[in-house]
Amino acid sequence: MMNKVRDVIVIGAGIIGLATAYYLSRENKRVLVLEKEEIGAGASGACDDMILLQSKKPGILLEMALESLNMYKNLSDELETDLEFQNLGGMILIETEEQLSIMEEFVASQNKHGLDVEILDKETVIKKQPFVSRRVIASTYSSIDSQVNPFRVMQGFIKKGQELGMEIRKHLPVKRISMTKTGLWEVETDNGEKFSSKAVVNAAGAWAPEICKLVEMDIPIRPKRGQIAITEQIPPLGETNIWDAEYIVAKLNPFMAKRRKKILAELGIGLSFTRTHDGNYFIGGTREFVGYDKGTTIEGISNIVTQALRYFPILKNVSIIRTFGGLRPASLDGKPFLGEIEGLNGFFVAAGHEGDGIALAPVTGKLMAQLITGQKPFLSIEELAPTKSRGVVMRKN
Ligand SMILES: Cc1cc2nc3c(=O)[nH]c(=O)nc-3n(C[C@H](O)[C@H](O)[C@H](O)COP(=O)(O)OP(=O)(O)OC[C@H]3O[C@@H](n4cnc5c(N)ncnc54)[C@H](O)[C@@H]3O)c2cc1C
Repeated sequence: MMNKVRDVIVIGAGIIGLATAYYLSRENKRVLVLEKEEIGAGASGACDDMILLQSKKPGILLEMALESLNMYKNLSDELETDLEFQNLGGMILIETEEQLSIMEEFVASQNKHGLDVEILDKETVIKKQPFVSRRVIASTYSSIDSQVNPFRVMQGFIKKGQELGMEIRKHLPVKRISMTKTGLWEVETDNGEKFSSKAVVNAAGAWAPEICKLVEMDIPIRPKRGQIAITEQIPPLGETNIWDAEYIVAKLNPFMAKRRKKILAELGIGLSFTRTHDGNYFIGGTREFVGYDKGTTIEGISNIVTQALRYFPILKNVSIIRTFGGLRPASLDGKPFLGEIEGLNGFFVAAGHEGDGIALAPVTGKLMAQLITGQKPFLSIEELAPTKSRGVVMRKN
C-alpha cells in the first residue's frame, strides 16, 4: 500500500530527527518521522542533559553549541513547553599542577575565541563548592554552561511540529529504501507499508550505518556506550555542575592519557556530576565500545560512583535510585555528519553527534532544514558534509 507523497521522511525519532522534522515543518514542508521503537528510544532518552560549552575546542562544534544555546533560551516560549532550561554554569575540577598548566592553555585558547571561561583558585573553588575534596587545587569556571530536559525538548518539537502538520509513526523499523523511476524515494517498513517522499533524512543515531546500508553505503559511526547513575533528590551541594579535568586533559595531551589509571582509561571515564531541575544528581559516565549493548555493569557504575565520591565524600550515604546506559553515535573525527550524500539526490544524513546531540539539536535542526530546502546554511558547515574523505563510502564505487 503506497501512502501520499511527503516532502521529507525523517528516519529516527531521537532529538536530532525531531529537531530536523520540526524546523522543516516551520518551512511548510510535509514531514513524516518513522521510528522503530518509541520516541527517545535511543541515546536521546538515555543521556545527560548538558549544553556544555567549555569542554569544546574552538571550531565548528563550539560555534554550533553557542548558536544552539542562544536558540534554547527562547525555545520554551516558541515550543510552548517548559524545557527545564537552567543556567547553573560549570566547573572542571583540577587536582594537579600538570593538569592546571594544560587547562590554563586550553582556557586561553577558548578566551581568544570569545568563550567566557576562567581559572579559579582553590579558595574560590571551595566557596562555590563547599563540599568538594580539599585535594582539588583549582578549577575552570564558565557561567554559560546550561542544561535542558531532553525528554521535554523532544515533546516540545513534537507538540509544535504536529500543530504545523508533522506526522510521526512509531514501532515501524525502516527495512528498505529505494529510488523510484519518478525520482521519489520509497521507504518501506517491516510491516510492508511503503511511504514516498522527495527527500529522506537518516537521523538514526548509532543505527545510522544500518540505514546507510539500505542504500549501499557505509558510514563510520559506532555506538559508544555511556553509563550513568542517578541519585535521590538532595539539596544542592554547590553552585554549578561539575566535571573532572583528568579526562579532558587526557584528551588534550597524549602523555597525560598514558598516565591514567588503567581501569579509568579502559572505561573512558570522565566524571560529570550534574544537578537536574528536580534535584537529582546525574553521575557519569563511561565511554565504551561494546557494540549495541546498552546495559549497565557493576564495573562501570562502581567506577563512576567512586570517582564522584573522591571529589565529593559527602555523597557516601546518598542513595542511587537508578542506573542506565545509552549509545552515543560516535564518528571517527568526533563531528556529526550533516548534509546530502553526493550522488544520492535527496538522501541526507544528520547523525554522529556523539556526546553533544542534546546541546546541538536546535542548531542541527535549523541547519538541516536550510540544507534540505536549498537555502544557504547560516553557519559554514562544509567540514561536516558526509564525504569520502570522512570515510563515507558508496559500495558500488
Ligand atoms: C550517557 C550519555 C550522556 C550524554 N550526555 C549528553 C549531554 O550532557 N549533552 C549532550 O549534548 N549530549 C549528551 N549525550 C549525547 C546525546 O544523547 C546524543 O548525541 C543524542 O541523543 C543523539 O541523538 P540522535 O537523535 O542522533 O540519536 P538517537 O537518540 O539514538 O535516535 C535515533 C533513533 O533512531 C531510531 N532508529 C534506529 N534504527 C531505525 C530504523 N531502522 N527505523 C526507524 N527508526 C530507527 C532509534 O530507535 C532512535 O530512536 C549523551 C549520551 C549518552 C549515551
